[in-house]
Amino acid sequence: MADFLPISLPSRCVTYKNENGDPVNLNDVKARSYQGSDEIYITQINPINLEKNYLEVLKSILLGVDPLQLTLGDRMYLILWEYVNSYSRTMRLKTVCAHCLSDIQVTVDLGNLENVKLPEGYKEPYKVKLPVSGEKINLRLLTVEDEVEVEKYSRKHRKTSMLYRYARTIVDEVDVIDRVDRLSKMAAKDLMKIMSFQDEFFHGPEMKTTFTCPVEDCGEEDILDIPFRLDFFFPDISEL
Ligand SMILES: [Zn+2]
Repeated sequence: MADFLPISLPSRCVTYKNENGDPVNLNDVKARSYQGSDEIYITQINPINLEKNYLEVLKSILLGVDPLQLTLGDRMYLILWEYVNSYSRTMRLKTVCAHCLSDIQVTVDLGNLENVKLPEGYKEPYKVKLPVSGEKINLRLLTVEDEVEVEKYSRKHRKTSMLYRYARTIVDEVDVIDRVDRLSKMAAKDLMKIMSFQDEFFHGPEMKTTFTCPVEDCGEEDILDIPFRLDFFFPDISEL
């Protein structure tokens, strides 16, 4: 069995609680690389069951924090950490040079991406004033639990699943379905304010890399976005 190693989650664990309701200490959180028992779930991941299946994997590979509480930034960090520690540090991506228009291949060092940390002193719930109504509401970051619930919800209510996702980020005493109704009647700018809260506190790996075009006489330098792909979970072995 692979050893559990210390990891440095970009949220700094500031929103996590242990079973006793006490804050989680970043130094107590560890992860191990994938093993055969994880691959049972990983190889069956598809866009419909990703959240549910990957939650099962997180339960086995993570120590010191309840995976349902993980922020999405921390989960992305873990997905890349697993890729680097279980498969390969580098990933090959295809792109087109914007200067000479040649098809080129870029090798990304996934172990060397910049990791944005959640700001020191970040606390939840976070009070936000809506620009149109002037109301103040309490918000929190999306978690793995939210994504698992959104995946379930969207099977029955496809149309409103986007609103349901952000309704879950509001912290109040109102039932979540009533919050969906509230969001559906809200001014678009107020809703955008709620949605953009997640970007405002973006943390985790910066999914972009710089590269130099290898074509002779070109040498153009550019930035390439690294797309989220299912082969982050199970890469083609011939590509490694
Ligand atoms: Zn070029």
